[in-house]
Amino acid sequence: MKARKPLIAGNWKMNGTLHDGVKLAADLATRMSGAKNKTPFDMAVCPPFTLIARIGEALAGASISLGAQDCHAKEKGAHTGDVSAKMLTDLGCRYVIVGHSERRTDHKETDAQVQAKAQAVQDAGVCAIVCVGETEAEKDAGKTLDVVGRQIAGSVPKGSTAANLVVAYEPVWAIGTGRTPTTPEVAEVHARIRALLGKQIGPAEAEKTRILYGGSMKPSNAAELLALADVDGGLIGGASLVAADFWAIGDAAAK
Ligand code: PEP
Repeated sequence: MKARKPLIAGNWKMNGTLHDGVKLAADLATRMSGAKNKTPFDMAVCPPFTLIARIGEALAGASISLGAQDCHAKEKGAHTGDVSAKMLTDLGCRYVIVGHSERRTDHKETDAQVQAKAQAVQDAGVCAIVCVGETEAEKDAGKTLDVVGRQIAGSVPKGSTAANLVVAYEPVWAIGTGRTPTTPEVAEVHARIRALLGKQIGPAEAEKTRILYGGSMKPSNAAELLALADVDGGLIGGASLVAADFWAIGDAAAK
């Protein structure tokens, strides 16, 4: 039995037509109702903005949370093309991913910007999934713990609690590559993240905060990663697009 209820969160990224997305969500909803909405893990899906409303309808009645992949730090205003956290909660989102490495790279997002977005998510009354992780060059230079430590210090809002914060450790070099760190490496980083959270938000909240692993998690490696004491679930990209695989990762978390 895990100390914290695992969260299995799917990051669909920029994938899915209306037809495919609704089909995937309906498949997950059927599995969840087959489990009578009682699973030893929490499940969330984070579709692209365009699909959120319809996926919410497809998930109605199933205890699978809705999430988003990003938001603007401001609540409203002249920010063409952006979406606020409040707009996402309006659609029923309970989680918003912020600081994913693809946004840090593609949009040059800094820790301060990620922190402001995470704060906006928390101010909207829901949970920020704050992503951190080192690049391959940083890993090779032995800087993983330094980089992750700096990102945690800079990206996690000050007054975070276990109810409005989830941290996802996602080594950049493991995302979409089929490669993963060794389990001792993952264990070391997660333990360090929890220790740092203890200093930032207090040991009691840090102890309850879920820290997810992300980066090429799939049914064949999930059980090993999810068995680690400080791994409280997964943030899953590619494998979250196949209902059977995503559900199998949930099952692995339950062991
Ligand atoms: C991600 O992008 O959050 C991710 C973990 O992707 P993948 O599972 O495809 O590596």
